[in-house]
Amino acid sequence: MEAVVAAVRVAAAELDAYAAQAAGCTRCRLAQGRTQVVFGVGNPAADLMFVGEAPGFHEDKQGLPFVGQAGKLLDRLLEGIGLSRSDVYIANVLKCRPPGNRDPQPDEIEACEPHLFRQIALIEPRVVATLGNFATKLLSGRQTGITRVHGQEQLTTIGGRDVLLYPLYHPAAALYTPAMLKVLEEDFFGIPDLLGRPSGVPDHPEPALEPLGTPQVAVQLGLF
Ligand code: URA
Repeated sequence: MEAVVAAVRVAAAELDAYAAQAAGCTRCRLAQGRTQVVFGVGNPAADLMFVGEAPGFHEDKQGLPFVGQAGKLLDRLLEGIGLSRSDVYIANVLKCRPPGNRDPQPDEIEACEPHLFRQIALIEPRVVATLGNFATKLLSGRQTGITRVHGQEQLTTIGGRDVLLYPLYHPAAALYTPAMLKVLEEDFFGIPDLLGRPSGVPDHPEPALEPLGTPQVAVQLGLF
């Protein structure tokens, strides 16, 4: 037990050191427009890690992932399965905000991916829940879109370690689309099982969250 605690401390210290180093990253053009690198947040020894797309306006200002409306929804979804932010680790494919929240470009993803792979190697999560297409495609190594793969766990190898990948719709898309929010909530209810934990979630839970707006907004934001 003491050896495990010591190993977790070492990994947490290494993660801090790596974050400090990544804070000065200039591997791609996004370094020029960012306020700061948004490295990630949460439990450095988490069994469950979430990977989103890229920081938005609020994340860039605050230096933390998922602090806007999508983050509030993520918090509520976590709460629905008896977890909180401090139980999990949250990061993004890109650590810097793309201008105007445009899609990540392939060369930006390629430049940034060593940061994500190092995070995963140090945290050693058992389950990685990918939020949306960019994270899902990068970590599965496949081009199949999120609509076809959401809610279906896949055993994959990341950095030589077996990891259960669990693709989910991006909360920002679900914010404005009732049908997608329902599916996202249902998929969330599958997480405790993947972690091998009792959830406190009933066998057939009813999705209960309300969307914020209209699907058109999500289409305009390019979230599908
Ligand atoms: N969307 C993301 O993908 N990541 C964030 O940090 C915020 C919104």
